[in-house]
Amino acid sequence: MKSTHANAPIYLDDAATTRIDPQVAAALSACFAARADYGNAASSHIAGRRAQAAIDTARQQLGLLLNARPQDLIWTSGATESDNLAIIGAARFRAHRGRHLVTMTTEHKAVLESFDALEKEGFEVSRLSPGADGVLALSALEAAIREETQLVSIMHVNNETGVVQDIAAIGALCRSRDVLFHTDAAQSAGKLPVDLAALPVDLLSLTAHKFRGPQGVGALYIADRPGCSVAPLLHGGGQERRLRPGTSALHQIVGMGVAAKLAHDRLAANLRHVTALHERLWNAVKRIPGVTRNGSADAHYAGILNISAAGVEGESLMLALEPLCVASGSACNTQSREPSFVLKALGCTDLEAQSAIRFSFGPETSLGDIDFAGEHYRSAVTKLRAIAPAAAA
Ligand SMILES: *Cc1c(COP(=O)(O)O)cnc(C)c1O
Repeated sequence: MKSTHANAPIYLDDAATTRIDPQVAAALSACFAARADYGNAASSHIAGRRAQAAIDTARQQLGLLLNARPQDLIWTSGATESDNLAIIGAARFRAHRGRHLVTMTTEHKAVLESFDALEKEGFEVSRLSPGADGVLALSALEAAIREETQLVSIMHVNNETGVVQDIAAIGALCRSRDVLFHTDAAQSAGKLPVDLAALPVDLLSLTAHKFRGPQGVGALYIADRPGCSVAPLLHGGGQERRLRPGTSALHQIVGMGVAAKLAHDRLAANLRHVTALHERLWNAVKRIPGVTRNGSADAHYAGILNISAAGVEGESLMLALEPLCVASGSACNTQSREPSFVLKALGCTDLEAQSAIRFSFGPETSLGDIDFAGEHYRSAVTKLRAIAPAAAA
């Protein structure tokens, strides 16, 4: 077993944040160490130009990861900001054409609350429910799009369940109806192939720390197509084509560029690794009585496995699972004891949703970590059921 002392965490929470890659950390350190060489990227002197060159390199690295033109990518502070800018910005940009928007109920809060804010501005929002497997039916989307619809926002990979939406088909439908399509790709960028030259996606959000980059930096892709743009949320300087002004966060951006390059180089190998881990973990837990998988077994990203155990209370299970670092429901919901709204949208009862544990892992996760997790989960569920057998009834 990997961990001999109970305090050493076994980290299985990559969907919340990943551990920075040592090469990314080195690139950040190098930026700070060479601080005398770098100025403000907006300055035209030699130190400013050097900063600008480093940022250009990072933009190319990110462009390579997404197969996008570097000039179609703008830096933000993360996927939360990218989602806000894409959704609120595009809705306002196209408001003169119509004020109806479409999303789904299992989106990240950064998306859902952006739509809530737009409703207060007088936009009308349709929130579609997925099927019990978490997948949105294309027919439901087709029926929801109207003459006045301007924007559809459907995430690529769900952060709680790992369910993958068919963004190629959704994007094609949106194009055929002249509707902008935004996707929150925070959980897929750097992990699954995302080819923006081939995908009919107009706006795409991502964040560096979900693929081993630094926290606090992300990007928004804006397709270079007629009618596709955003009204800025911030006002100030001319950075990022005036769509996101503010002094460029040099070290963060350089770090995101290196993380993008590493993710691009290792994408296939990383995907094979997490696929093997997923199968191993699922095989270890699937025969425990009352254990069920949440979300589709087919349309999913292998780096996330979300399971419920009948009759077991999630918070007690989390404690019993230490030193495993896993999530119960959504990490964003840990302040409240409310059952996960994502799992409830898939038809889980409150009890089923409350017993859910999300395991999420990546290239750094070892087979030993996964074997420990499977065994430890089994014994924790058995122990809790023995303590409170009535709850299992
Ligand atoms: C993590 C995440 C976000 C938010 O990213 P931040 O870096 O916290 O801004 C948005 N959407 C999804 C799907 C995520 O997983």
